Amino acid sequence: MPSAPPASEHLVRHVHKFGGSSLADATRILSLPPLVADGAASTLVVVSAMHGTTNALVAMADEAVAKGDWRAAWQALRARHLDAAAAIAADNAALHDALVADFDALREDLEALTAGDAGDARIARVHGLGEIASSRLVQAALGDGWARLDARDVLVVHPGEMGVGVEWEASRTKLAAWRATHPPQRIVATGFIARGRDGNDTTLGRNGSDYSAAILAHLFDADELTIWTDVDGVLSADPRLVPDATVLPTMSYAEAWELAYFGAKVLHPQTMAPVQARGIPLRIRNTLDPSVPGTWILPENPEGDAELSPVKGLTIVRDMAVLELVGNGMVGVPGTAEKLFAALHGAGVSVTMISQGSSEHSICCVVRASQVEPARAAVEQAFADAFADGRTQAVEVTPDIAVLAAVGDGMVGFPGVAARLFGALAQARVNIRAIAQGASERNISVAIAETDATRALRAAHSAFWLSPQTVSVGMIGPGNVGRTLLAQLAAVLPGLRSRSQVDLRLRAIANSKRMALDHFAIEPGDAIARLHPEGGEPLDLDAFAAHVRAGHIPHALIIDCSASDATAQKYPGWIAAGIHVVTPNKHAGSGAWTRYSALREAQRHSGAKFGYEATVGAGLPVILTLRNLIDTGDTLHAVDGMLSGTLAWLFNSYDGSRPFSELVREARGLGYTEPDPRDDLSGLDVARKLVILAREAGLQLSLEDVDVESLVPEALQDVGVEEFLARLDELDAPMDARLREAQSKGLGLRHLARLTRDGKATVGVVALPAEHACRHTRLTDNLVQFTTDRYASNPLVVQGPGAGPDVTAAGVFGDVLAIANALGSSEGRYA
Ligand code: ADP
Ligand code: ASP
Ligand code: MG
Repeated sequence: MPSAPPASEHLVRHVHKFGGSSLADATRILSLPPLVADGAASTLVVVSAMHGTTNALVAMADEAVAKGDWRAAWQALRARHLDAAAAIAADNAALHDALVADFDALREDLEALTAGDAGDARIARVHGLGEIASSRLVQAALGDGWARLDARDVLVVHPGEMGVGVEWEASRTKLAAWRATHPPQRIVATGFIARGRDGNDTTLGRNGSDYSAAILAHLFDADELTIWTDVDGVLSADPRLVPDATVLPTMSYAEAWELAYFGAKVLHPQTMAPVQARGIPLRIRNTLDPSVPGTWILPENPEGDAELSPVKGLTIVRDMAVLELVGNGMVGVPGTAEKLFAALHGAGVSVTMISQGSSEHSICCVVRASQVEPARAAVEQAFADAFADGRTQAVEVTPDIAVLAAVGDGMVGFPGVAARLFGALAQARVNIRAIAQGASERNISVAIAETDATRALRAAHSAFWLSPQTVSVGMIGPGNVGRTLLAQLAAVLPGLRSRSQVDLRLRAIANSKRMALDHFAIEPGDAIARLHPEGGEPLDLDAFAAHVRAGHIPHALIIDCSASDATAQKYPGWIAAGIHVVTPNKHAGSGAWTRYSALREAQRHSGAKFGYEATVGAGLPVILTLRNLIDTGDTLHAVDGMLSGTLAWLFNSYDGSRPFSELVREARGLGYTEPDPRDDLSGLDVARKLVILAREAGLQLSLEDVDVESLVPEALQDVGVEEFLARLDELDAPMDARLREAQSKGLGLRHLARLTRDGKATVGVVALPAEHACRHTRLTDNLVQFTTDRYASNPLVVQGPGAGPDVTAAGVFGDVLAIANALGSSEGRYA
């Protein structure tokens, strides 16, 4: 935390700055007074123009110079300000009149520009009108007792190499004179605008009100400068590009300068110098949420700050180009770099980044795209001799470059920061053109192709800020199992996030028709509501997957709780794209061999995992057990199992005291069977599970290879459900005969799936002796018995409830967690 920020009751002089985003309309302007009422003895409020105004004024000036039509835009801007004035203080005629006069003056300037009477001062006056107008509105909103300072009356500046410089003495004298005639301790001042030494209007450059506020804070000898904006503080990256950017509680002036210099729009880069000179704490706060502490920018970072994160922020500067001087003859020649930079300096080109290969075969620098041609010309001229005698071969230019900068005071003592950055970029397949580390070691910059910029920024951001086990999750098919899983996620996720590194973010949800995608995360408890009624958008599985595979989150996972073959068809493609897939859907595991092998092949290439424990025995560890047996070198002889809860219940209950058909009806009533009980009785579902187990055991088995005995008599196979149910007792006679025959031998009937080492697979009703494990099951228990070399005379048995949404969802959840847990390490079940 920051070193005790000054408590407001001790504030003597407080400077506040409000950006355009805080001055968007009358309502926002009317919300300012409480924000500045902090008990300070004297308060200075510096304002920018109303949101969008400067852009509009710049466009109008350009239009006027080009003799185009600016009148409609002028009218609109005038109306916007007069409307705001009416909403803020309807009966304040002086305010209205002053704004009318401002806009009349603006029109005159625009007319003069149109007539060809240009000049920097006039253009600057047009650009700066927004601050004049907004300062009037803010003064009116603040009420009585506030003086208004037109900063042009006190600020004297001059153009400089690093931007506009301040004439401190002249400004101080003018301010003293202004104060002598303006007694109030509460002042509203315009940002952005000033005068040159010649007395002409000028501006401090785009986004310059931050700088104005810092200059005024210095001149007023303020105790604190608060810059109010529309975000919670300085964030670890531009939130428009990196949705996961987090607020930095503190940073040093130097860090803030580097971040701003490398493009973080939240602050003008020159803001720090005037406050740094007096050690004035600078605070960034959000007008939309003043309860948030914001970011403190202080002379030094507090103790231990670097342990939190050695990198403070990441930025991107676009519109750059690489200029490279290549030559063999440069090796060991002293002064080459000096000559290069002198040439660039002479041409007025500012160099953002410099890097030199250790061979000195080339020197490379990054400059603004708009300056690359003058830069090339200057360098060619400076090295004309070297070109002539062949010491230097070429000046090469690569356009469309962006610079990604990582900034942090703490980077100096932290080995591995660069490695982490480069590792993340490599993983995101971003090619690095040049690397430079600032002499302060507060900054590492890399030049990359502009088209890679956002992807690179997100990848680098997640490498430093997100848990390596952050997973973007999409769920398809919230039926029974899906709904239950959502409820389980809702109960467990918050604790999981605080206890472990695992951070599962449900970002997409779909049913068979629609999908809802969220940039951040959907609360599992709200997920169903997002789809109803007609919520979200029409389902497009490819768009769904692309959204889940978000560039800014390290991992992606799709949970398919549908029973659809169409989604299973997508798995190989998803897995190839690096998306993990978890499902209780049996189609992929037991469907066409070609698809199954494509899926396995995709896995080998991408490393993405396929979790399907819940396809056999729901939450029971059936696949896991089989996998462990094989992986530890055991040899499988046979798998026998009761793989259907429905059929298990039927045969557990069938002792001859009641007809078989009556039990089927009862099971249906209890919800144990599918709506059409033939789906269970046909044995097909069990056969699918057996195929999954066989494939897990390394056998190339398909559904056609399984010898399945259907319990549905042929005559009933093609009739409607109603008719089937009506004729159910046709099942009784043959089943009764089998039962009696078994009982006569002291055996009992069970529905069993059986796989032997040679690949023979059968599903059907068998008669088993009383000591067989399957004779000792209860209700809807599943049981799988593995006979192996190690478990030969006494097979390994996995047994327990193997159906129902609760245990199936838990099986799916278990797979998801196993995958997520393995992501951060190289060990674990799915590593
Ligand atoms: P104001 O009008 O208050 O001066 P700006 O639009 O100039 O506001 O700056 C604030 C904006 O800067 C934020 O809305 C955000 O989109 C953008 N921004 C870019 N990088 C950062 C960053 N690292 N931290 C915070 N905001 C950033
Ligand atoms: N209004 C000016 C601009 O838009 C200055 C600022 O907002 O800081 O650039
Ligand atoms: Mg700004």
